[in-house]
Amino acid sequence: MLSLPNEFQPAILPPAAVEQPVWWFVFANGQLLVRSVDEKPELPLASGWPFAKWPPVRRLYLGTLHGRPCHAAEVTTTPPPGWAFENLRSLWAQLDEALLGVAGHALQLIEWDRNHQFCGQCGTPTERRAEERARHCPACQLTAYPRLSPVVMVRVTHEDRILLARAPRFASGVYSVLAGFVEAGETLEQTIHREVAEEVGIKVSNLRYFASQSWPFPHSLMMAFTADYAGGQLQVDGREILDARWFASDEMPGLPSPMSMAWRLIQDYLTNHH
Ligand SMILES: [Zn+2]
Repeated sequence: MLSLPNEFQPAILPPAAVEQPVWWFVFANGQLLVRSVDEKPELPLASGWPFAKWPPVRRLYLGTLHGRPCHAAEVTTTPPPGWAFENLRSLWAQLDEALLGVAGHALQLIEWDRNHQFCGQCGTPTERRAEERARHCPACQLTAYPRLSPVVMVRVTHEDRILLARAPRFASGVYSVLAGFVEAGETLEQTIHREVAEEVGIKVSNLRYFASQSWPFPHSLMMAFTADYAGGQLQVDGREILDARWFASDEMPGLPSPMSMAWRLIQDYLTNHH
């Protein structure tokens, strides 16, 4: 999972004196610095910045995981010998799940911090706040907080079939549940009704909350629902959705990544309909 582990305690300012080694979540171009030890990826663990000849361009304190301080940093150059940058998706099921969750958090904060160095209203350089996770403009007082983009996802079923659809960006043969970004002013329920109508031309009812998950590519919050088919003929928009079909549990197509919320929604259906 890419969501923050419950054992993580966020904080803005680091503890004054640190004698124990701390975790370093080091990024370049959105990828995490790891080295392979016994074929398992490992993060830098050191009480201070571990690469003296390789200064970070950005540093952020994150908080503690199991009481151990966690720092995020951004670098721009190639890694020291023995270290490599890896995509978070490729580290899934390899890196410890709690560390992966903190890495997703760190990635979003590093990107947000870099993208908000100047005030969006007046262009003055912004300053980090000590009391909250925010960047503040000293000239016009505008405050920028880390951004989240809410996305709803819905599993529509009808009798003993599940609706799955193909978007142009999917790998060949892969179908998934419908999803869409929440528009300004919409409720989650309105987004679901609008997206389902726009993308596949049907109506749904009985919306029920399923679960949520952080998806830090780059800053989504996935909120999953289930729904029942309530009328209309499947008709894809041909742009966001290329094909949509009702699948029985014994004739499933290729499915999205097991690290995704979509996979959990589909797997839950299969567990209860075999
Ligand atoms: Zn300003």
